[in-house]
Amino acid sequence: MTTIMTSTNTEAPIRVRIAPSPTGDPHVGTAYIGLLNYIYARQRGGKFILRIEDTDRTRFVPTSEQMIFDSLRWLGLNWDEGPDTGGPFGPYRQSERTEIYREHADILLKNGTAYRCFCTPEELDDIRKQQLAAKLPPRYPGTCRHLTADQIAANEAAGKPFTIRLAVPPHGNDLTASTTFRDELRGNITFEHGNVDDQVLLKSDGFPTYHLANVVDDHLMQITDVIRAEEWISSTPKHVLLYKAFGWQAPRFWHMPLLRNLDKSKISKRKNPVSLIYYRDSGYLPEAIINFLGLMGGGMPADFAGADGVIEKFTLAEMVEHFVFTNIRVGGPVFDLTKLKWLNGEYLRKLSPEDFFLAVRTRVFGDDYLRHIAALMQNRIETLTQFGDLTGFFFSDNVLPTPDVWVPKKRTPEDTLVFAQDQLATLEATDWNHDALEAALKKLGEEKQWSVKENFMLLRAIITGSTMSPPLLESMIVFGKARSLDRVRRFLEAQKKSANKK
Ligand code: GLU
Repeated sequence: MTTIMTSTNTEAPIRVRIAPSPTGDPHVGTAYIGLLNYIYARQRGGKFILRIEDTDRTRFVPTSEQMIFDSLRWLGLNWDEGPDTGGPFGPYRQSERTEIYREHADILLKNGTAYRCFCTPEELDDIRKQQLAAKLPPRYPGTCRHLTADQIAANEAAGKPFTIRLAVPPHGNDLTASTTFRDELRGNITFEHGNVDDQVLLKSDGFPTYHLANVVDDHLMQITDVIRAEEWISSTPKHVLLYKAFGWQAPRFWHMPLLRNLDKSKISKRKNPVSLIYYRDSGYLPEAIINFLGLMGGGMPADFAGADGVIEKFTLAEMVEHFVFTNIRVGGPVFDLTKLKWLNGEYLRKLSPEDFFLAVRTRVFGDDYLRHIAALMQNRIETLTQFGDLTGFFFSDNVLPTPDVWVPKKRTPEDTLVFAQDQLATLEATDWNHDALEAALKKLGEEKQWSVKENFMLLRAIITGSTMSPPLLESMIVFGKARSLDRVRRFLEAQKKSANKK
């Protein structure tokens, strides 16, 4: 049995964490929350912890964890404890802690704040459908909450699979009907229990849900301040109920504003590149990204100018010195690429000529990148200087084909754009290797009755800007998923804009 350590208290040494889930490319939102946690810890002599929340096996992407490590380190957000660095509260990967969660779910079963639910997925699905049809919010009706000890024993003896659910009060001696917690930026927030579901804590496969694992770990890792995105506010009452059910003191909660697209919708890959890998591979400097993220939400004094006197330009160290958390505005900050580009330009100009040359040499013409491109070109040229003729698109940012290049002979521009949108969705959902890409694109072509030739011709035009290029799929693999997707997105955006102008 794991010992439950003493509860977190407000005087305790500051410990904060980020807890990304390895479900794909590392997200700019993770960097933003990482930055805030880093600053908070460094300002207070505390510890910054990286925990990997990998218990959702259906969304798990094996390469993702390493990408998270690499991109956070690239940004300079170094953690004090984590899966790779170790530390006194490990393991820091939730999939290695499943026994701890099961033991904790048992504690709640025993003290009556959780119960076994034997409802089958089909039964739950039926209930959900009925509720949706009646325009009610989907909610577990508590069917298994009142099973007698005999019924539970009979179900268990029959080997029926079960989940463990949180018994949201009122129940037993706890008749409270709402939960209030303090958000350090917003003040008190109250949720009526009528709006809080009896959350599944442990799934029938024995894996915990986010809620149980998150609370147990934050407690056992002695986290004093949970600084995370505002999308988790609606989960917080469940967490507070869990702390109470265990008899633990909850940490302080800080919910940070969500980054937004220019149109104020929640930042999404449809409208903005959100992968940190994209920014790294597209020639952004980590200092510029950190500075840009530090401008989100307004924790820095509005007219703050760093060492070279440029307003809004500052370093990570300056943020640690001057950032004020309680000044953060909760209205969603806009992730404005124009501003990020301006900042990046500022940082590029500050490099010494030699450092600038080295940045170009490593970021644009890196050895590995050139080696892969060279391999695609060896059989295709007769003099070495022809190398540039077919490979320019690998080194440019702005590649836009003209309609005579992208619209296949028998298609209209409108049909072609619809198909390009389908290609984008297909590429987003595909593993970035030759066979997977080929199979997915061919399947799409068959479904939409686009010949292989038209299908690949269109994509070639979008990615390379031309009708002639080294082999398309190989080129896209070298070019990378993040940048390839961005190119398709920008192409679609540009066509939309030019259609609006007409
Ligand atoms: N695993 C959650 C995420 O992916 C963590 C949220 C939290 O910080 O509690 O963002």
